[in-house]
Amino acid sequence: MKWINRNDSEANYEDRRGRGRGKKTAAIGGAGAVIVALIALLLGQNPFQAVEMLGSFAPGETTEIVDPSRVNENEELKVFTLGVFNSANDVWEEIFRSQLGQEYVRPGLVTFTDATVSDCGGATAAVGPFYCPGDQKMYIDLNFFHQLKSEFGAQGDLAMAYVTAHEVGHHVQKLLGIIDQMNQYRGRISEVEFNRLNVKLELQADFLAGVWVYHAQRMNMIRLEPGDLESVISATTAVGDDTIQKRSMGYSVPDSFTHGTSAQRTYWFRKGMETGDITQGDTFNDPSL
Ligand SMILES: [Zn+2]
Repeated sequence: MKWINRNDSEANYEDRRGRGRGKKTAAIGGAGAVIVALIALLLGQNPFQAVEMLGSFAPGETTEIVDPSRVNENEELKVFTLGVFNSANDVWEEIFRSQLGQEYVRPGLVTFTDATVSDCGGATAAVGPFYCPGDQKMYIDLNFFHQLKSEFGAQGDLAMAYVTAHEVGHHVQKLLGIIDQMNQYRGRISEVEFNRLNVKLELQADFLAGVWVYHAQRMNMIRLEPGDLESVISATTAVGDDTIQKRSMGYSVPDSFTHGTSAQRTYWFRKGMETGDITQGDTFNDPSL
């Protein structure tokens, strides 16, 4: 995959690379502050001033820890991911306006290193990229893309783009009310049935990623190269891990959970990529599923 026109805007982008949270070392509050005040009194100092010097430190409070050596880590991957994120948003904005008559509200993109927090709970790099419907942001530890190449053999750039476009696909599902609708079924139908719905949701996000590829080419944003589709097929297996689903929805799923097979995921991605037609992506009413 090659860029023809890349949008490098950093709007809606939150860069948390090299930033983590840790406990404040000098955390004193509550009872601790009272003791400080008592000591100050005994020493003849102004107790209020002494407590004030402690600032707003409270027990267990955390503070941001920045590792300067990692804030620009994977810069090239960041630029690439941001480009896909913007391209997907530009495509969906047009589709929403021209075909759905609905306003497209852009999601947020968060890049992080090792671990971060979201409305769906804390996340570590181990869970892979995910979308959180609660804060409408997608979270990516860019090191995931190294794993995609080394462990899953997904070499091409389209494989990386697919991962980002898939998460934007979940955001489209959120805006269309599909995720909320699905959550209403939670606890009301059997686990097996709910898992079947989850598979359909995932396959639809794959389809929507494919729809992005179709329109990104049509709108002169990207150009495909030989081997691109094969690399996506490797990636569909890599992101078929249920841990990703677990994080994307913000709750745990039982061990019996099954994603769509790699073949199913490839089928739906290709269908989106070859038709670019959102009306063909109703995985929920597809007789084959
Ligand atoms: Zn997903």
